Amino acid sequence: MSIATGLPDHALSYRLPELRSPSFIEFPTGPACRFCAARRGIVEPVTIYRDSYAKLCLRHRVWVGGDNLDTQVDVSALPELTNAQRRHRNLVRHRPGYAEFVYTTAERIVSGWTARRLWGESRDRRLFTLFGDEPARFPRDSTEFNIANYPEIVSLTSILISYHWITKAVSPERTPEDLRQFYAEVRHRLGIDIGRDGFVDQHDPLTVWVEKQQHNLERNHYQRDHTQPLRQRTTPTTWQEVG
Ligand SMILES: [Zn+2]
Repeated sequence: MSIATGLPDHALSYRLPELRSPSFIEFPTGPACRFCAARRGIVEPVTIYRDSYAKLCLRHRVWVGGDNLDTQVDVSALPELTNAQRRHRNLVRHRPGYAEFVYTTAERIVSGWTARRLWGESRDRRLFTLFGDEPARFPRDSTEFNIANYPEIVSLTSILISYHWITKAVSPERTPEDLRQFYAEVRHRLGIDIGRDGFVDQHDPLTVWVEKQQHNLERNHYQRDHTQPLRQRTTPTTWQEVG
């Protein structure tokens, strides 16, 4: 197979996880970057196994996170996307499995913001840069929005994956000051105006998610031992999906 594909053995086993682990069942697949394929003389669409974080071809600055070649958009005009891809890769390498789970949560929250047309300044700017049209033209979960939201999804992932920051938001001993610091960090890293002056919209998708985790944590804690005060600081282990 190494001869047929022109790839060295170690590269093949990386791309074909079954060669490494016969019991491996699922691994994400998607189209290879068309420019990378073209360099090898392949012009037809090629489906490859890819890393869960692989949204961009860093060599060609092309979005490869979609399902087909039509979604392979040139994103070289937006260097923050390249930066986000590197940060995303580092998160997954440091916390494999868990990072993917947290990313999915962050993705749902940002998708909720998109649906409610919240915090859209960077999103609209990127859509305009890449597609030059009104954002309302694109469906909520389209590739266009996935691309335009990517830096915020990665930034939110990096906050929610951090023990320091998640325990500011969700903890049996959480104080109003903890929450204020959490939202200040989100505001700072995502460049959005959430939680300014201590005001948080109770219908904001991030707030809804945070309060749901807090509710579940307190309920579970109480069910374990309702005679003890809620003193122990713990990381939420039973995250719920965003509704
Ligand atoms: Zn490429």
